Amino acid sequence: MAYSYQAPVSQTLFDRASLVTPGGVNSPVRAFRAVGGTPRFMVSGTGPYLTDADGREYVDLVCSWGPMILGHSHPEVIAAVQEAVARGTSFGTPGEGEVALAEEIVARIEPVEQVRLVSSGTEATMSAIRLARGFTGRAKVVKFAGCYHGHVDALLAAAGSGVATFGLPDTPGVTGAQAGDTIVLPYNDLDAVRAAFAAHPGEIACVITEASPGNMGVVPPADGFNAGLKEICAADGALYISDEVMTGFRTSKAGWFGVDGVRPDLMTFGKVMGGGFPAAAFGGRADVMAYLAPAGPVYQAGTLSGNPIATAAGLAQLRLLDDAAYAKVDAVSAEIRGLVGDALTKEGVAHTVQSASNMFSVFFTDQPVRNYEDAKRQEAFRFTAFFHSLLSQGVYLPPSAFESWFVSTAHDTRAVERIAAALPAAARAASEATA
Ligand code: PLP
Repeated sequence: MAYSYQAPVSQTLFDRASLVTPGGVNSPVRAFRAVGGTPRFMVSGTGPYLTDADGREYVDLVCSWGPMILGHSHPEVIAAVQEAVARGTSFGTPGEGEVALAEEIVARIEPVEQVRLVSSGTEATMSAIRLARGFTGRAKVVKFAGCYHGHVDALLAAAGSGVATFGLPDTPGVTGAQAGDTIVLPYNDLDAVRAAFAAHPGEIACVITEASPGNMGVVPPADGFNAGLKEICAADGALYISDEVMTGFRTSKAGWFGVDGVRPDLMTFGKVMGGGFPAAAFGGRADVMAYLAPAGPVYQAGTLSGNPIATAAGLAQLRLLDDAAYAKVDAVSAEIRGLVGDALTKEGVAHTVQSASNMFSVFFTDQPVRNYEDAKRQEAFRFTAFFHSLLSQGVYLPPSAFESWFVSTAHDTRAVERIAAALPAAARAASEATA
């Protein structure tokens, strides 16, 4: 595919990066390999906009893959960070900021009685699984194809996100022993879960699922799916772990739990709760969390866990996220979904827009997408054309057909109008695309 526009400064930076960093990036999807072209090196962000190294401005529909729910450089978050940083950057001791952030999480999310702070979503899911195994004394873990829980060895089998983008069947470096206790099942299929429990009674430590998946594109749980998981786990003595790294504090004040009310034994969080800094968490039932060191025997630790800058940013962001903020994000998401659907319909492009609260994505198929197999059946080549047309017009989408799009409270009328103006040409490009 020929790109009619150039990003020479980004290209120079990418060439430099590629000499010293594998693939030129620190997280694979950023390299644009699924869509081709030059990844944009961003230099600043304000509200709903990002500016790249070539001085071009974009309406941002990635929002740092979820965290920037108030838009970029929100003045109150920046002020909290500046205030914290002036007092020092890391102490390696307990501090009040981490207590306040933990209290905020516990207050918002009823099933979380106790919480441990970590630095990434990957650490949160890895630690939650270790804790589930330690608590139950069992080895096996059930996960779903297309769900991504970070790059935890045992959870990389049939994962979504970058693993889906690159079509990796599995990852070299993960041994049979590390993945051997992982049972991968099709998403939204309770019969498959029942069959797995029937085949391994008393052996499964936990089921981990994205509360509402966003890493194979947005594929919400079917009615009763999460409740069914909870019930099957409870009957067998396994733990139900809801991964809310993406949905937590985004899909409602209490994340996806606030939407479906199904009470997990353990939950994981990241993204929004860090306000753009590396902060994440796992938490849940107090009797399970009591197994964690130093209260209990399951070891887990982190030099920068509860970092004062990250907790200040996260706390400032969460305190601004009231009902009005969520109503605003939900409304702008609905508006953009409508515009995208209309533009594609007008050009006769087969598509399905799926959403989970304000998270959404477009699948280039007219069939509903209920699981990873359905997601892979879309005409992803149309996404590539759509993506590049929007990029050239200053609208920044996730560079993969298998990712959620994200919006913020800062996406105002002007930003939406810019998206609306770019969509007709992008829809035409999608309709004219060939495999
Ligand atoms: N879990 C889910 C649902 C995610 O979406 C992600 C990241 O996108 C992770 C876990 C891993 O988080 P991190 O990238 O912070 O390690």
